[in-house]
Amino acid sequence: MSNTPLSSVLIDRFARKVNYLRVSITDRCDFRCVYCMAEDMQFLPRQQILSLEEIEFICRAFVGLGVEKIRITGGEPLVRKGALGLLANLGQLEGLQELVMTTNGSQLAATADQIRAAGVKRLNISLDTLNPDKFRELTRTGDLQRVLDGIDAAKAAGFERIKLNAVILKGRNHLEVVDLVNFAVEKALDISFIEEMPLGEVNGHNRAEAFYPSQQIRADLEAVFSLMPLRDSSGGPSEYWQVAASHTRVGFISPHSANFCHLCNRVRLTAEGRLLLCLGNEHSVDLKAIVRSYPNDMTKLQQAIIASMEIKPERHFFDINEQPVILRHMSNTGG
Ligand code: SAM
Ligand code: SF4
Repeated sequence: MSNTPLSSVLIDRFARKVNYLRVSITDRCDFRCVYCMAEDMQFLPRQQILSLEEIEFICRAFVGLGVEKIRITGGEPLVRKGALGLLANLGQLEGLQELVMTTNGSQLAATADQIRAAGVKRLNISLDTLNPDKFRELTRTGDLQRVLDGIDAAKAAGFERIKLNAVILKGRNHLEVVDLVNFAVEKALDISFIEEMPLGEVNGHNRAEAFYPSQQIRADLEAVFSLMPLRDSSGGPSEYWQVAASHTRVGFISPHSANFCHLCNRVRLTAEGRLLLCLGNEHSVDLKAIVRSYPNDMTKLQQAIIASMEIKPERHFFDINEQPVILRHMSNTGG
């Protein structure tokens, strides 16, 4: 009885169907991007984070409740030992239609083939600049060439789609948006531009001063490219435009300038096992406590997940001029 999956779907109080789970498998990372982390980060002790088996069990619970898409993220997912094995196991989950991953690309040159073989269909790779010095400045530790090699390896591995993610900060990389799109066009990749979100305290820049709105990026791009609007089919927060005469779609994720909460179809599992019902609110349920108190009890876990739909907030309210009300960093959140 306790291992019989429930056959309900996840629907919240605002009639939104949740069919997408994002899973942060580690809060650790080999980079320290200025918008994501402080220079000195305290990472969680090992026993506080979910084991790979616990992550897999929770993913199985969600798929049993109708979740069709899982994104593996972090922190940097590929710095966690065993990440490739986890991907391979998740790739076998019956009912899961899409397994995707977000990575900073630093380890892709060596792992892209295995990730593809595990069943990961699409990859998001973060890339904020094509200038090696600026790359080092923005990531504090990263080597641009490694990431470019990783992108080439991912292309060669045959993912269905690869999308670059670029967080644009005024005064740091806003003059590079055209170069980034040219790079994407040349490599036949998609690219999304993301407005910085006030998650966790960061040192090194003022978020209000660095704010560079999506509309401005689009205007910068339209001075050079012909962009044709596409109807969004993903149910996600991005608005997409096709770059004329190319395979490249340009997306804009605009948590400040365009609220997309009414379309929200996702929840997030943090590395320490908290189920976050909204990126911009603290409403959460401690799933680690449940899987550790009732090991292998699928029904208990699925009941807690269904009950969590009652506290999914209607929307987020970000204010770039305020100190962050959300104290967790994106690396803890599972961006
Ligand atoms: N380490 C991987 C990476 O960088 O792609 C995966 C995790 S990272 C937290 C996921 C995405 O969140 C990245 O594209 C990153 O640029 C974005 N991100 C991090 N902090 C952010 C913030 N404060 N506002 C907006 N996007 C952010
Ligand atoms: Fe690491 Fe990704 Fe955060 Fe950069 S954005 S510090 S790569 S988790």
